[in-house]
Amino acid sequence: MEKRALFNIDYTFDFVADAGELTCGKPGQAIEKKIVELTEEFIKNGDYTVFAIDVHDKGDEYHPETKLFPPHNIRGTSGRDLFGELQPLYDANKHLSNLHYIDKTRYSAFAGTDLEIKLRERGITEVHLVGVCTDICVLHTAVDAYNKGFKIVVYKEAVASFNLPGHDWALGHFEQSLGAVVK
Ligand code: ZN
Repeated sequence: MEKRALFNIDYTFDFVADAGELTCGKPGQAIEKKIVELTEEFIKNGDYTVFAIDVHDKGDEYHPETKLFPPHNIRGTSGRDLFGELQPLYDANKHLSNLHYIDKTRYSAFAGTDLEIKLRERGITEVHLVGVCTDICVLHTAVDAYNKGFKIVVYKEAVASFNLPGHDWALGHFEQSLGAVVK
């Protein structure tokens, strides 16, 4: 039996709410129940549960995303709050040692973070991915996980994007090129 971890990626106000700065909109909101359900399941099971959440500093001229996207998930703003029922679920469990909140500054949850070292310490070999956007942060995290030798599971009812063709393409890529289980 593989030792598994859940990565909860970027499910924040700015990426999901109608008024979010870089929102997936309805497709993002439609996965709330499934994300909350899976997160509860992993926490109850004692599995390592990671919240990998984008952070940017206002007007950061060195950050490559500044030229690509409107400002989003700015440090210290409510745009970084977890969306919907996920925030109270996180708050109720954040004291647990198997919960890990990561400020990430790039698409991949592995880029410039302590995520890999935390997984290796715990002997985790399989990573389960939920969140947004399927074809950006979930995709780049999955590619890094693949290159580092982790097995990957993606829940198609718990990932979403503002780009539907991109979402569909990424689901195929996870399965066909990264050997992921997409379920
Ligand atoms: Zn970003």
